Amino acid sequence: MHNFLPIAYFENQFIEFENAKISVATHALHYGTAAFGGLRGIPDSQNPNQILLFRLDRHCKRLSQSAKFLNYEIPADKIQQIIVDFVKKNRPTVSFYIRPLVYSSGLGIAPRLHNIEKDFLVYGLEMGDYLSPGGISCRISSWYRQEDRSFPLRGKITAAYITSALAKTEAVESGFDEAILMNSQGKVCEATGMNIFIVRNGQLITPGYDQDILEGITRDSILTIARDMGIPVVERPVDKSELFIADEVFLSGTAAKITPVKRIERFELSPERPITDRLKEKLTAIVENKDPDYKEWVYIIPLD
Ligand code: PMP
Repeated sequence: MHNFLPIAYFENQFIEFENAKISVATHALHYGTAAFGGLRGIPDSQNPNQILLFRLDRHCKRLSQSAKFLNYEIPADKIQQIIVDFVKKNRPTVSFYIRPLVYSSGLGIAPRLHNIEKDFLVYGLEMGDYLSPGGISCRISSWYRQEDRSFPLRGKITAAYITSALAKTEAVESGFDEAILMNSQGKVCEATGMNIFIVRNGQLITPGYDQDILEGITRDSILTIARDMGIPVVERPVDKSELFIADEVFLSGTAAKITPVKRIERFELSPERPITDRLKEKLTAIVENKDPDYKEWVYIIPLD
């Protein structure tokens, strides 16, 4: 069971998490007409009166953009203010995850986006490791990522996650930890809630924005860090067979952080992961606000 943070933002006010309830007739519940964000926060180990949020502005911007696909205008700075207030009200003492959601809150019966009320809510939960940090096994999913001509992939739309749910269940029920999905072109796309990177001959490779991926904020951070560290980086289509012979493979996401992959199908990967380890160490220091070069990525919320 999850430990939810005690206060939620619901219907324009902060209330007890237990009292934040939606109707059975809520449109988003029936048609997936919602979009969400996911951010991590940690208490500042160097100052107990501060909470650190990683790349808050980017998360708010992505959610505001996702809301546009729902015919809902909510400015990024409004989302940001509510999230900051949400954290101040909850005063978390351990590592946590914030889930803001924009959704069709009206009680409609037809799948549409016009003439239906929209709303915004936020809740949170305590969160340690989402996947085993020491490494996981992956299978290639029999489910393919949606394509942009039939689904707005640049939005983090809840309806898309039926594919992730099918893929994750298929993977776990067949003895793996996670699933890697191909895109409609048959190229490597991403995992159920993470982007994917491979390392070959010292080069860091990840599918580009033209490969139907979610525009992951951790992915963007890793690309920047790698370039700054002098690691050669390329964004290009990745073939399935490259996964099996890669020197290193890892998944990236807000929840998953950098999670190394130990095995894909029957192919074991090397336990030596020099580039993954370097990136992971650097990202951890940045998130904890211990790296002066990336201070602008860390939003500090004072609790007093
Ligand atoms: N792909 C999908 C499908 C996701 O749900 C997520 C998690 N938001 C990611 C990738 C990683 O994105 P981020 O690094 O912004 O969390």
